[in-house]
Amino acid sequence: MIGKCKLCLKEANLKKSHLLPAAIYKRLRNEREKNPNPVLISTNTAVQTSKQIWAHLLCADCEQRLNKNGEHWVLGNCIQEDGSFPIASILAARNPDISSPNNPTKVYYTLNIPEINISALSYFALSIFWRGSIYAWKDYGCIPINFGIYQEKIRRYLLGLTVFPRNCCLMVYVREGKETDHMTYLLPSEGQKGDIHICKYAIPGFAFILLTSENMNLNESQFCIMHGKGNPIFVTTIIEKLLMDEVSKLLNNHSSSKRE
Ligand SMILES: [Zn+2]
Repeated sequence: MIGKCKLCLKEANLKKSHLLPAAIYKRLRNEREKNPNPVLISTNTAVQTSKQIWAHLLCADCEQRLNKNGEHWVLGNCIQEDGSFPIASILAARNPDISSPNNPTKVYYTLNIPEINISALSYFALSIFWRGSIYAWKDYGCIPINFGIYQEKIRRYLLGLTVFPRNCCLMVYVREGKETDHMTYLLPSEGQKGDIHICKYAIPGFAFILLTSENMNLNESQFCIMHGKGNPIFVTTIIEKLLMDEVSKLLNNHSSSKRE
């Protein structure tokens, strides 16, 4: 199918572009269950489906760009089909930089951990948020994200024209615990709190939250893997709770504070 590539904006033969990389769906299947299909959670639905979500959006060069700059490393380090989880093992071998006995979430400064490729991790994270914004994925209960003025900044960053955008705060959560839930994932969804725009999604082993605001302050940006001191990453036992609490809070506020 010929059309304008959403990333480089050139006329090209458009590929089947997945909202989440096709390899993720494999990790999500649980062949031991009667219905091996993953549970897809979005802001208004939870369904068990084998459907992969794609549309003709990007040219072959841009698909390759997204793969090379982010997906390749992340897919090799998120939960694998055999249940191993390389990035969690790398972190578990070290002492957290911030932790307390009663808190299920620990902080590691990745600046000191050369095995963790934060460029790939943040590029991947933003590429999925961005995919959620370039197409009306409505059939899947996933609203197209509206990044406002950040739309173009993120596109230029993904194209390699600029550095990681200012006023974007990306928080990366890694799952900890014996029970790894292969079956659940959360598509990109968005909300608004005051003048901060909030997006999130989860894939096996990881959750990502992205805040954008013209008025981002130190309080928020200290948690950003790119802008925060030491490039922090969070390890937590409560990914679902963390995400769903946030989602339900956002849903409660959604109608009153939806972005114009
Ligand atoms: Zn392209």
